[in-house]
Amino acid sequence: MTAVIIDGKQQAAQIRELLAAEISASRIKPVLAVIQVGDNPASQVYVRNKHKAATEIGMDCRVFHLPETADEVMLSELIANLNNDCDVNGIIVQLPLPKHLNELRILSQIAYYKDVDGFSPYNAGLLQMNNSDAVVAATPQGVVELLNASLGSLTGKHVVIIGRSNIVGRPLADLLLNQNCTVTVAHSKTVNLPELARQADILVVACGCPRLVRQDWVKPGAAVIDVGINREDGKLVGDVDFEAVKNVAGFITPVPGGVGPMTVAMLLKNTWQACLKQHSQS
Ligand code: NDP
Repeated sequence: MTAVIIDGKQQAAQIRELLAAEISASRIKPVLAVIQVGDNPASQVYVRNKHKAATEIGMDCRVFHLPETADEVMLSELIANLNNDCDVNGIIVQLPLPKHLNELRILSQIAYYKDVDGFSPYNAGLLQMNNSDAVVAATPQGVVELLNASLGSLTGKHVVIIGRSNIVGRPLADLLLNQNCTVTVAHSKTVNLPELARQADILVVACGCPRLVRQDWVKPGAAVIDVGINREDGKLVGDVDFEAVKNVAGFITPVPGGVGPMTVAMLLKNTWQACLKQHSQS
């Protein structure tokens, strides 16, 4: 068997095109504020990509680049100003922050309706309660979009997620539970992970371990979604041994070109939706 390759790049391009058309048909120019602290090289690339993608669909993307030494007061002041700025519809803080800054305290200061990354405790709580007002984190939302497009209804599927981070594993578990899946979340202390993974109808891997998942970890015909982005000898590789696993899986995402492009598209979608909501309430 050779798996169907799920083309995240193409699906993301379609979403961006749709957003561009909606924005150009409206009289509104959505504004996304991106806060970057320090010069983490991976963050530089991510911020550049978000800026480019936003600009291409007619969104105004304003990058606020603070020095590595910025303290919490500086950051809090900037967030408060952006919260109060009616022109700004979405605010994101590029993670990771330098070690001296308290991530949770900072993310909690973003007005929940401008929190287009969905990382604040308020939006995470709404998602957990299956409340439709939740702004859902972009990467898990992208994973679910890819699954829905390939498999249709996910009701009754057993999903195993490898990884329990606040930005991928946990919100994804909530989203899939809300789609009537049976969800198992695995992590670094999980016992007998290969056997558990083999029980999955859908296996999502987000652990940051290059090629951890091998062919014999996958049930024949299962859908395998690889969230991992690892750099090896200047090349990007996922958390799944793609070349081997594609011979047994029914569906599989590549790295690059799978979940990554969907993350950016979902961030733009969240920003546009936040913008429309704010305009309808003003
Ligand atoms: P974190 O480091 O925050 O979390 C990793 C999770 O994986 C933890 O829960 C950890 O367990 C678990 N884990 C680590 N090693 C193993 C192992 N050997 N077996 C089982 N579980 C393990 O990572 P993120 O969630 O932020 O990111 C995960 C990956 O996804 C990274 O490669 C990252 O670059 C990528 N990523 C990709 C995105 C995209 O757009 N495609 C967006 C965000 C992330 P424990 O909790 O016990 O420590």
